[in-house]
Amino acid sequence: MQISVIGTGYVGLVTGACFAEFGVNVLCMDNDAKRIARLEKGDVPFYEPGITELVAKGIGQGRLNFTAELTRAVDHGEVIFIAVGTPPKKDGSADLSFVEEVGRGIAGKMASYKVVVTKSTVPVGTGAFLQQVIAGTQARKVAFDVVSNPEFLREGSAIEDFMRPNRVVIGSDSERAVALMKDLYRPLYLIETPFVVTDVATAEMIKYASNAFLATKVSFINEIATLCERVGADVQTVAKGMGLDQRIGSKFLHAGPGFGGSCFPKDLAALVQMGEKAGYPMQIAGAAAAVNAEQRVRMVDKIRDALGGLEGTTVGFLGLSFKPNTNDLREAPALSIAQLLMDQGVTVRAYDPAALEEGSKLVPRITPCQNAYETARGADALVLITEWNEFRNLDFDQLKSVMRRAILIDLRNVYESSRVTQFGFRHVSVGRPTKNPG
Ligand code: NAD
Repeated sequence: MQISVIGTGYVGLVTGACFAEFGVNVLCMDNDAKRIARLEKGDVPFYEPGITELVAKGIGQGRLNFTAELTRAVDHGEVIFIAVGTPPKKDGSADLSFVEEVGRGIAGKMASYKVVVTKSTVPVGTGAFLQQVIAGTQARKVAFDVVSNPEFLREGSAIEDFMRPNRVVIGSDSERAVALMKDLYRPLYLIETPFVVTDVATAEMIKYASNAFLATKVSFINEIATLCERVGADVQTVAKGMGLDQRIGSKFLHAGPGFGGSCFPKDLAALVQMGEKAGYPMQIAGAAAAVNAEQRVRMVDKIRDALGGLEGTTVGFLGLSFKPNTNDLREAPALSIAQLLMDQGVTVRAYDPAALEEGSKLVPRITPCQNAYETARGADALVLITEWNEFRNLDFDQLKSVMRRAILIDLRNVYESSRVTQFGFRHVSVGRPTKNPG
């Protein structure tokens, strides 16, 4: 089969490269010609484990090709995936202008039956809207179907998530389109991946409901963490005790600085907007977003308390990206916390294994450093904010020898306090008692 993927960001490129790996002939299109020129040479414009190798393999085997021309992509694919961005508008609702633009472009160039698939996260009703846009724009009537096939991959483990998903959701009212989609995903069918085949609106809602639920779990445990700090309990053990209950599950119960990234904040906001438009306020999604925003301010308070005041201090940030194994800085807690600290007279030194260059562009007042030990030089505290593996085995003797004060503010609860305090460090974490050395 031949498919096209429009948009070569995290989702589009992973989708294209993985389908090529499944044996499908894939043409990836992006309107960013520079990005396409790089991709044609196998140069992937973002950090994601394994993607460079997979793209090189697809190109080498002739199953993965790139173009900046939409006409070529529409000609090539019987199934056309739309994987362009759907960023938040000022009011929080999803900006569908890129999706609409692509829909109109496809309609204008369609010469044979096409299945147009929304892979982008789009609010309920977008499939129906796209159907109207395409039907209304076609110069001559050509049959087509619109399918919703939301993507659940996580940055940092995107390829594994695509190749071994928990489920595949297909929303369509066309048997022909569903048959083509199932054929495409046959390698997953063979490994007994559950398929949820439903209507377009329900498929669209599954994506928002899933992300809002996960985001709510994070905000929930962060609220519990704050209460733990005030009443003298340990959130790590609370989360473990909760997570062992199979009705709850242990995932997404890690207290920390709050969620970031390109999906949870924007998808929560879009769900809240959907509720507003439908005349039914989404109270839980709204509360999850509000708790998350507050959590960042609480992390600044935590740093202030640990240092006994902020003005004139220096802190070293370990990590900038919103989570490990990605260089994605969209809505990263590190950036807003750094900004809040610098506004209160703090000098912020920072190191990140993949996102340093981009991070220093976004927050130019940060002092970029080349490793954890350089970051620690002259610092009053080290703030561990993204749990990259290389921060899990720090040499505390070496750190202590270059720091002004031996304080570790462990916003991801990576370390046991006993391990840190034995080196003379004060250990401040989230939802657990602060421990002093000795
Ligand atoms: P991204 O910003 O990394 O990539 C979007 C790409 O689309 C860019 O390369 C851009 O140049 C291209 N594009 C924009 N307009 C275009 C047009 N008119 N024609 C062709 N190309 C165009 O975005 P992303 O992170 O890959 O997310 C894409 C969608 O997938 C979003 O709706 C997002 O919510 C959803 N999603 C993202 C993730 C994730 O982890 N990033 C996971 C699941 C779902």
